[in-house]
Amino acid sequence: MPVDALGAYDDNNIFARILRGEIPCKQVHETPHALAFHDINPQAPTHVLVIPKGPYRSWADFSAKASEAEIAGFVRAVGETAKLLGLEEPGYRLLANAGVNAHQEVPHLHVHIFGGRALGPMLAR
Ligand code: AMP
Repeated sequence: MPVDALGAYDDNNIFARILRGEIPCKQVHETPHALAFHDINPQAPTHVLVIPKGPYRSWADFSAKASEAEIAGFVRAVGETAKLLGLEEPGYRLLANAGVNAHQEVPHLHVHIFGGRALGPMLAR
């Protein structure tokens, strides 16, 4: 079910539980401000999620409320993760779903990193 990008943070969402170590993940990278792990239902040969460690529901929430250090740390972690995955040279796609129209399903900000093959047009028409 798609979720609203705004509103109160739900401490029991699946990514909050991964951050607390209650649910395992296939970790790729961890920094003071971010965690990167493989998507459980990959849509490309490489499909990794990068999440901030703070309690932010969406891009709207994060960009409005996160500190400069959290924002810089998260953006750097996305770039570092793509590099660790060997995706810089062949290329990759970043995607962040926010809210109902984008079909955001997990109410904790995440950026998808897709790679490992030619990814085709940006959006299905
Ligand atoms: P979105 O539609 O942008 O909210 O995407 C949520 C993503 O989280 C989907 O691609 C799911 O496959 C992924 N996902 C859900 N639960 C888990 C989990 N426990 N570990 C890794 N990825 C997950």
